[in-house]
Amino acid sequence: DLTINKIAAGEVVERPSSVVKELIENCVDAKSTKIIVDIVDGGKKSIRITDNGIGIPSSEVSKSFLRHATSKIKEIDDLYDLYSLGFRGEALASISAVSKLEMITKTKDEAVGTRVYVEGGKVITKEPIGATNGTTIIIKDIFYNTPVRQKFLKSTHAETINISDLINKLAIGNPNIQIKYINNGKPMLNTPGDNKLLSVIRSIYGKDITGNLIEVEYECSNFKLSGYIGNNNVYRSNKNLQHIYINKRFVKSKLILDAINESYKSIIPGGKHAVCFLDLEIKPSTIDVNIHPTKLEVKFENEQEIYVELRDYLKRKLLGSTL
Ligand code: ADP
Ligand code: MG
Repeated sequence: DLTINKIAAGEVVERPSSVVKELIENCVDAKSTKIIVDIVDGGKKSIRITDNGIGIPSSEVSKSFLRHATSKIKEIDDLYDLYSLGFRGEALASISAVSKLEMITKTKDEAVGTRVYVEGGKVITKEPIGATNGTTIIIKDIFYNTPVRQKFLKSTHAETINISDLINKLAIGNPNIQIKYINNGKPMLNTPGDNKLLSVIRSIYGKDITGNLIEVEYECSNFKLSGYIGNNNVYRSNKNLQHIYINKRFVKSKLILDAINESYKSIIPGGKHAVCFLDLEIKPSTIDVNIHPTKLEVKFENEQEIYVELRDYLKRKLLGSTL
């Protein structure tokens, strides 16, 4: 079974940033209001994530490292529900199979917390420990027991960039959560958690960017749109500044990007790739996100309608703001 976990881990855990993604999504699922991410050497040496969420009861701790152990699927319908994050009980099993993992967790109903140490998927120690409410997970020596995978890790610099991009994206999607990010002991990001998207954008990109954004808000039969889009060409062609979310989860969608860029190009002189922070709320039953969990791609039932409605709304909005 441990071998199966090691193989399955290849699907979920491609690199340190995929570990960070899974762990932060668990913190979000656990209703945390504060998450601290601390990485060393691009996550290759260690990744530590602390949250103040609901924690895991001592009796459930060992179980959370088993494959398909999830507390989150209650009805089969949930499988199609984009609102629930995660890999349906794959993440902790996969991550712990290819690393050395320590977890300290406590629920508000327990007097003491639990500490577990897991190596290569095997629970080595489990003991009571004094702890505050919430969960801390420390991952060390990722891929220590899969040397081939370890060889494919990129430079510390490249892995750090992946993680930073990912944390930015998760922070933008969760303005209600205070997210603190420390890299090699250096504070990189600290969002206020005041539930304002503009505050997060300011924390990440500085206050200058916010003067070049306009707020968008639109509702039609296919989606409800909210967020911000650049109304000039100051940040031209910076694809890193294009953030698309579906139901608050960041995705890659050529369809949505094309609609945005098409409207932008036609209104903003010299415009190519609009700076954007956009969330589309779409009925989960009309989209498919289960193509591959790590690729973040989405298929839409009404894709042509969505494309036209989004493009035309943004054109009107951008035109109004530049008049
Ligand atoms: P999934 O998120 O799909 O349920 P995971 O392998 O990511 O699967 O996590 C397994 C289980 O461990 C979760 O269902 C949850 O019960 C528990 N868990 C993991 N991380 C946390 C956390 N930070 N806070 C509370 N519970 C957690
Ligand atoms: Mg999960």
